[in-house]
Amino acid sequence: MPDVVVIGAGVVGAACAHYAARAGLDVVVLDRGPVAGGTTGAGEGNVLVSDKEPGPELDLAVLSAGLWRELAGLGGFEYEPKGGLVVAEDDEVLAALTALAAGQGVEHTVVGAGRLTDYEPHLAPGFAGGVFYPQDAQVQPMLAAATLLREGARAAGRGTPILRTGVTVTGFLRDGERVTGVRTDRGDIPAGAVVNAAGTWGGEVAALAGVHLPILPRRGFILVTEPLDEPLVLHKVYTAAYVTNVASDSAGLETSAVVEGTPSGPVLIGASRERVGFDRTVSIPVLERLARQAVELFPALAARRVIRAYCGFRPYCPDHLPVIGEDPRAPGLYHACGHEGAGIGLAPATGHLIAQALTGARPGLDLDPFRPDRFDPDRSGTGTPAKEG
Ligand SMILES: Cc1cc2nc3c(=O)[nH]c(=O)nc-3n(C[C@H](O)[C@H](O)[C@H](O)COP(=O)(O)OP(=O)(O)OC[C@H]3O[C@@H](n4cnc5c(N)ncnc54)[C@H](O)[C@@H]3O)c2cc1C
Repeated sequence: MPDVVVIGAGVVGAACAHYAARAGLDVVVLDRGPVAGGTTGAGEGNVLVSDKEPGPELDLAVLSAGLWRELAGLGGFEYEPKGGLVVAEDDEVLAALTALAAGQGVEHTVVGAGRLTDYEPHLAPGFAGGVFYPQDAQVQPMLAAATLLREGARAAGRGTPILRTGVTVTGFLRDGERVTGVRTDRGDIPAGAVVNAAGTWGGEVAALAGVHLPILPRRGFILVTEPLDEPLVLHKVYTAAYVTNVASDSAGLETSAVVEGTPSGPVLIGASRERVGFDRTVSIPVLERLARQAVELFPALAARRVIRAYCGFRPYCPDHLPVIGEDPRAPGLYHACGHEGAGIGLAPATGHLIAQALTGARPGLDLDPFRPDRFDPDRSGTGTPAKEG
């Protein structure tokens, strides 16, 4: 019998399995599809501290940024510690950005208007200035997830985590309230503990155990340009409007381009945000808006062709915080889901904290703001308030 079954082979499930295996646990990872076949395969790969308000998510992001730097030493996936540049349209926005950066307490440099092109030579003129965050980085999320799974086993010097794809979890084994394993379309698997890392489907999986997690899909499109001969965009670059969009509760369409080059040449332009269920219909107006905003940042992009666009569904929680930790309503069931647009960045810290919880170690961060029952009506008066989305 494995110590742990992890449901989901996205980047978050892979990180949970990686750190649990390194902590000496026998781990089985199940996914109904392939590795990174969920939202992880549709993400952009930003590892950002810059867009987080001071508070628990920023604490998680800072921990995670450091862990990504360590994990990059494993090799096997692209990791670029390139830094992020947030630009301000006018002096008022620059003042707000500068105040945010001071409150965040993370490493940053305020960049005057005249110095912006030292960072980004092809940036459009007219911005009032910006803030540069050296800790922002970029990973290739699919290869990163696969590497975490493979290297977890190697680091532990044993045969786990064992990956089983094409297996759908359909229910839970119970001993009273306690979760003692999973039911799947390929048979029952008893386990010491179960981790729900099912991303946008984390609420559905939780419901199989009779517990409520209000995780909803928040759709996002990304544009990919043709490979460029020489780098046009050196860092992650976005406007201050992105920070507002990330924190917004609106179900309506919001766009603010985040532009970044990749080692293989194409420029990635993300990302829109809207809550339209699991609708995959391509929206030309959304793609046009993203393209226009990217050209407003880098006019030279107007002459480059977009070769494809893709979309995915962020696992949205109404208070924009992930759910991390054991569920008091179903002991033995741990959740690691609901990371919305930051799950790639936050995956290592989540995996690390889940492994600590599984082994009874003292958590490296206070898990209370992430607790699974915080949306229950009788618990909403404590800890992080539940907001209506
Ligand atoms: C357009 C876009 C851009 C983004 N950009 C970024 C970014 O730059 N940086 C960042 O940090 N984040 C970004 N994100 C968000 C990020 O992609 C997600 O937060 C992250 O990938 C979630 O990972 P996960 O492992 O939790 O979920 P997933 O990758 O979705 O994995 C969950 C897995 O669970 C499996 N599963 C579900 N139900 C079951 C079941 N019953 N049985 C078995 N398996 C099951 C699914 O098949 C899936 O593979 C972006 C998202 C989008 C859509």
